[in-house]
Amino acid sequence: KQKEAQKQLKNIKLMVSDKDEDIFFDDVAGIGDAKVELQEIVDFFQKPERFRQSGSRIPRGVLLCGPPGTGKTLLARAVAGEAGATFIALNASEFVEMFVGVGASRVRDLFAQARAAAPAIIFIDEIDSVGRIRGGAKGNDERDQTLNQMLSEMDGFDNDSSVIVMAATNRRDILDPALIRPGRFDRIVYVPLPDYNGRIEILQVHLNRRPHSADIDYHELAFETNGYSGAQLANLVNMAATVASQAGRDEIQNSDLGKALEFERLGPERPAYSEAARRRIAAMEAATALACTLLPAIEPVTLCTIVPREKHPLGQTVVKANEDRELTGLFTKRYLEEQLLTVLAGRAAEELIYGPEEMSTMQQRRLIDARRIVQKLVVSAAMTPNPAIGPRTISVPRRFGSSLMQAVTRFVPSELHSEADREMEALLAEAYATVKQLLVRNCAALDSLMAALLEKNTLGGEEVQALVEQHAAAEDLQRRD
Ligand code: ADP
Repeated sequence: KQKEAQKQLKNIKLMVSDKDEDIFFDDVAGIGDAKVELQEIVDFFQKPERFRQSGSRIPRGVLLCGPPGTGKTLLARAVAGEAGATFIALNASEFVEMFVGVGASRVRDLFAQARAAAPAIIFIDEIDSVGRIRGGAKGNDERDQTLNQMLSEMDGFDNDSSVIVMAATNRRDILDPALIRPGRFDRIVYVPLPDYNGRIEILQVHLNRRPHSADIDYHELAFETNGYSGAQLANLVNMAATVASQAGRDEIQNSDLGKALEFERLGPERPAYSEAARRRIAAMEAATALACTLLPAIEPVTLCTIVPREKHPLGQTVVKANEDRELTGLFTKRYLEEQLLTVLAGRAAEELIYGPEEMSTMQQRRLIDARRIVQKLVVSAAMTPNPAIGPRTISVPRRFGSSLMQAVTRFVPSELHSEADREMEALLAEAYATVKQLLVRNCAALDSLMAALLEKNTLGGEEVQALVEQHAAAEDLQRRD
C-alpha cells in the first residue's frame, strides 16, 4: 500500500528520494546539536508505540531555522533516510501556486497521500513565503487559505498518525506566531553556519566521496573558508573536481582546491587590457604586495595578480585570512595603521612612477577604503592619542542601534567633530607620505615585483616573499622580522 502511494506521489513529482539515493545523518556534517535533536523524530518513526506509551508529546511539526545552504533540506532528507520514511518535498511558493484556484481540497489530498505513504515527512522549504505574519493592508487570500488548511491538517493529526511536517526558513523573525503554537511547528531546530571544525567535517564528507590525494590541508582550507555555508563548501569540492579533471586527473589534490578557492574569490577572467593599462595595474599591485609583505602586522601575501577578474577587474593582492579578526572584529590600532598604508600603496606607486599629472581614477575605491580606516581609527573606535579628542567615541556604528547613535552624537560638541576631521586629514596625509617613503626605499623590490607580474600575470605567496627578501631595504626587512 505504501509503495502504491509512493508511486502516485512520484507521478505528481512530489516525492524526491528513491531508496538508492537515500541520505543519512552521516551525510550531514558540522551542524552542532541539530542531529541529536532530530534523533527524537527518527525514534518516533521507528518505535511509535514506545513513544505513545511513555506519554511523550508526539512530534508533528519541526521547524529548521538557519541561513541558506547550511543543510536544512539535507537534514530533513536524512531524517527520512534514517527512519525509512517517505520524503515528500515542496517549496512553499510552489505549494501556494499548486493550490491556487483549487484551494483547500488539494492540501487535503496532499496530506491524505502522505498518510497513505506513511511513515512520511512532508518537507516545505522557505515556509516564510507562506507563513509570514498576516494582516497589513495587502492580504493574500490564496496564501492564507493554503496556510490555514495546512495548519488545520496538522491540528487534525491524531496520535496514530505517522506523518510529520518539517519546514525550513532563514527568516524565523517574520513567521506568523500561529505556526509555532504547540501541536504545530513546536520543535525548533537551529542549523547554524559551520564553524572551523564544522567546515573540516563538511569538506571531509564531500571529499570522501571522490578520489583525493593524501595532501589535502583541511586546516588551511577551513581557515580560508570562514563564513562559507555547507553548500558553498560542497560547491568548492565540485569545482576542485573540475579543475582536476581538466588537468587530466581523477584525483583531487590540495592545489585543485586552492585554485577553486581562488576562482570563488576572484570570479572568472575578463578580456585583457592594453599593455599601458596592464603596466599601470602591475605597478599598483606590486606596491600593494610589497607593502603587505614588509609591514609586520599584515598577514603574508598568498596571491598577487594583474589578470582582470570578474570580482576584481583591476587586479588583486590577497593576504592570508585571520580567523580571529574576521570573527570578532579584532583590529588593533597598529593593524589599522598598517592596513591604511597598504591601501594607499597603489596610489603612491602611481604618483611616483607616472608623476602627479598622470595619475588616474583607478585607485578611487582604495581612497574610499582609506577614509573608512581613518574614520575607524579616530571616530568609531576612538584610538587617537590626540588629547583634544581622547577616548570619546563621537560616532557609533549603526549596528549598535540608531537610538544609541543619536544619544551619543547629541552630546558631542561640534568643535570635537572639527577636531576629529583635522585629525583624520592629518593621519591620511602622514600615512601617504610614509608609504611613499617605503616605496622609494624599496624601489628595487618594487621593480622586480612589477617585472615578475608583467611576465607571469600572477604570483604566488612564495614568489612575492622571495623577491621582497632579495631586493628590499635591510632596515625594512629587519623591522618586519
Ligand atoms: P538549505 O536547505 O539549508 O538551503 P541544502 O540542504 O539545500 O541547504 O544544501 C545544499 C547542498 O549543500 C547539500 O545537498 C549538500 O551537498 C551541501 N551541504 C549543505 N550543508 C551541508 C552540511 N551541513 N553537511 C554536508 N553537506 C552540506
